[in-house]
Amino acid sequence: MKLVIVDRDGTINVEREGFIQNPEEWEPLPGAIDAIARLNHAGYHVVIAANMPGLGRGLFDMAALNAIQKKMNKTLAAAGARVEAMFYCPHTPDDGCTCRKPLPGLFEQIGERYRVDLRQVPAVGDSVRDVQAAVAAGCVPHLVLTGKGAPKQTDPLPAEFPLGTRVHVDLAAFASVLIAEDEAAQAAEDEAARTAEAKAATPT
Ligand SMILES: [Mg+2]
Ligand SMILES: [Zn+2]
Repeated sequence: MKLVIVDRDGTINVEREGFIQNPEEWEPLPGAIDAIARLNHAGYHVVIAANMPGLGRGLFDMAALNAIQKKMNKTLAAAGARVEAMFYCPHTPDDGCTCRKPLPGLFEQIGERYRVDLRQVPAVGDSVRDVQAAVAAGCVPHLVLTGKGAPKQTDPLPAEFPLGTRVHVDLAAFASVLIAEDEAAQAAEDEAARTAEAKAATPT
């Protein structure tokens, strides 16, 4: 199963000061919805992992979160795209939970639910916490330079970013790279199979 773990705010939709508290505040980033559609078409199941401390602080409730989710799903569906599920941490930093990124709890829940080896799973987000959580869970870490990632457009990345973090301008660029690499890997596999067949067919 091909799975990709994606952050929400600042990665799929515009990041807002004080959290997204209602559907009106949820606005997709340019190219992000189409990126998810392209990932789906390439065989990827897309799952969101998001910190939602606004829940723990009482800034919004489950009904609001569901309404936001509904708007996102509707927007995705209109583009032929789909997010399988959203895993979220409802806690505040003071709760001392194990699911708040940069801890890997959410990613581990996803790995268990879908029974996938997280070492094969790319994870993408706009903040250093996303990347740290991805690495802690054993995923392949990707950073997008939208949302919180925007000021990090430095080369090399600041030291708090784990070694091996791959950087893309946005989710659209991330999807293009992932899909191109899959196609290249598939082509190499096909070529190897053809070579093996040709070899088998050659009389010695
Ligand atoms: Mg984010
Ligand atoms: Zn949590």
